[in-house]
Amino acid sequence: MKKVLITGAAGFLGSHLCDRFINEGYHVLGMDNLITGDLKNIEHLFKLKNFEFYNHDVSKFVHVPGELDYILHFASPASPIDYLKIPIQTLKVGSLGTHNLLGLAKEKNARILIASTSEVYGDPLVHPQTEDYYGNVNTIGPRGVYDEAKRFQESITMAYHTYHKIETRIVRIFNTYGPRMRLNDGRVVPAFIGQALRGEDLTVFGDGSQTRSFCYVDDLIEGIYQLLFSDYVYPVNIGNPNEITIRDFAEEIIKLTGTDQKVIYKPLPVNDPLQRQPDITRAREILGWQPKIGRSEGMKNTLEYFKGLSKEELYRSEHKDFSSYS
Ligand code: UDP
Repeated sequence: MKKVLITGAAGFLGSHLCDRFINEGYHVLGMDNLITGDLKNIEHLFKLKNFEFYNHDVSKFVHVPGELDYILHFASPASPIDYLKIPIQTLKVGSLGTHNLLGLAKEKNARILIASTSEVYGDPLVHPQTEDYYGNVNTIGPRGVYDEAKRFQESITMAYHTYHKIETRIVRIFNTYGPRMRLNDGRVVPAFIGQALRGEDLTVFGDGSQTRSFCYVDDLIEGIYQLLFSDYVYPVNIGNPNEITIRDFAEEIIKLTGTDQKVIYKPLPVNDPLQRQPDITRAREILGWQPKIGRSEGMKNTLEYFKGLSKEELYRSEHKDFSSYS
């Protein structure tokens, strides 16, 4: 049985990856320090013989016993309000954490896939974003800790590939949504759905003319799975090119939830990218991958998930206490 280590296993994407690799017959080692992850996302896996969980911060030396075939590095805070609350940890997991996992990959002769992001393009001056675009990032802005850690992550991953000849893969993930997103992580999908379900007005930042392109989680996981088993070492965008303004997206959520909430406008956060849309030509050509699930189907599934939360969960303002992490 092949063994795979998934970091960020209790998070949104990490937990879906654990499910996928379990379903494909792998032995899965899930690792998470639970700083932004939640064990609830993987509690259904604990009874399985081919799943093990390590509560560990990958910014510190990582050891796992025995052989290892694959590593998927998905540990990181992933939302702008988290970067503000835990900027140092965000920098560390993308840089030191990646270094540790590349070292582990070298030691175990394992193939490693690292989760990069559309944030490497910053507030992009090229639209849609192709992998060749170098980006427009403010190093010292509020998102800089995430963006620059991820840019460093790509550099060190390529360096390990060229210098140490280890097998590496880099996925640049665009906005993704679906079940298990953290309700209060501040990102727009859970924010709007939570507001609609609580009967609150939907908060659009700026005038809402900024765009995003939302990919359903199952499509994303499929793209990542295919990339891991491809021969391609350079970064690949995975996302859904269907672009929408945030203002129109708010209206869509109001329609979908059948509520009569209003949209209210709040200031646009600093360095909030004005437009974002993946060019997925490379993924199409190299992997034969493209998204299959449209926003109406994906959002319906996502809404069902959030409707299943308890009242207490829906009204809890923030269940994460970051104060004890260093
Ligand atoms: N946004 C918004 N209202 C909210 C939360 C987010 O208008 O309550 C906007 C945010 O300013 C951004 C977009 O929605 O332009 C997507 O934000 P998110 O945090 O989901 O992801 P990112 O900005 O990293 O793409």
